[in-house]
Amino acid sequence: MDLKIGVVGCGAIGRDHIRRLMTKITGCKVVAVSELNEAVGKQVAEQWGAKYYKDGKELINSPEVDAVVVTAWDPAHAEFVLASLEAKKYVFCEKPLAVEIADCKEIVEKEMAGGKRLVQVGFMRRYDPGYNQVKKAIKEGKIGLPEMVHACHRNLEHNDDMTSDMSIKNSGIHEIDIMRWLLEDEYESGQVVLPRQSRISATQGLQDPQIMMLRTKQGICIDVEISQSSGYGYDIQCEVVGDEGTVRLPDPPEAIVKNSCTKTTAIMPGWQTRFPEAYDIELQSWVDTVKADHITGPSSWDGYMACITATTLGECRVEGTIKKIETPEMPDFYK
Ligand code: NAP
Repeated sequence: MDLKIGVVGCGAIGRDHIRRLMTKITGCKVVAVSELNEAVGKQVAEQWGAKYYKDGKELINSPEVDAVVVTAWDPAHAEFVLASLEAKKYVFCEKPLAVEIADCKEIVEKEMAGGKRLVQVGFMRRYDPGYNQVKKAIKEGKIGLPEMVHACHRNLEHNDDMTSDMSIKNSGIHEIDIMRWLLEDEYESGQVVLPRQSRISATQGLQDPQIMMLRTKQGICIDVEISQSSGYGYDIQCEVVGDEGTVRLPDPPEAIVKNSCTKTTAIMPGWQTRFPEAYDIELQSWVDTVKADHITGPSSWDGYMACITATTLGECRVEGTIKKIETPEMPDFYK
């Protein structure tokens, strides 16, 4: 029987996830959608034959909905995840799990009190074939012991509401999670270095670019450039350097075109086209594991750790200091 899904938030990724769930992912259907903008919500509901709810919590509590996908804007995530836990329903929440550490802690405590993992966070890079190849090479000892990671996350352009803090808490959070997953290590300390200001982002008072520097408990040093307006494309790079070799994230396979005495390769403009396979695998896996009543994807604990790290890095940026990243011991519940 199909898993009946309710989606809260019909913005860019909400609509993309709905399309994917209805056309590519097997064993499920979207039966309900919620969106503050009534015209958009009703149009999306009509397009997919789903029921429209103005109120996300009403959707979550509807007996028609078996499981919830939260794709509203970041500040609304905690409220809808907590409502899903209250309703004892599986919930897939886009990153970040919550904006505030206290909200992540509340989610983790509520989930543990319920005695069962119900929350998965949308850290989709863990499902990307390229990142999985990098992880496999590290685990098989192909590069020896990892010493450093050089990475970058460059967005083509940013929305008007992007802030210096969000640059880490919304974009950088992908990097914070994927490094922790790749290296199977926890963070020890962090720092943010501010290069020369981009003239494009300066018009909005956005500090851009920023370099997140992280040191893990095993002493691995990570530098990640976060840029919100690369001016040329959405570019995600990652190179792990070990004491016996290096491994690099592959670019998506794109044809090399030669004409008029030039050689060109397309660069993707955004997350939709850069990571389609990762989203497919992520959502299929979530649907399958929810139906098997045993989810295994990125947990609310992972979301909590990422939020603590991103928040500390935000403080480092403001204070211009290196700070210890204080994370609690992982409870057995999440091991
Ligand atoms: P977006 O286009 O701005 O969409 C956000 C949507 O949520 C808007 O339609 C907004 O409605 C709606 N919304 C806000 N508050 C709501 C509420 N209280 N109840 C119901 N709907 C509400 O942003 P987006 O790009 O789709 O991003 C949505 C989320 O996905 C963000 O948290 C973002 O971090 C995450 N995301 C993840 C990835 C990834 O790679 N995993 C990629 C993109 C986005 P209005 O338009 O009426 O305000």
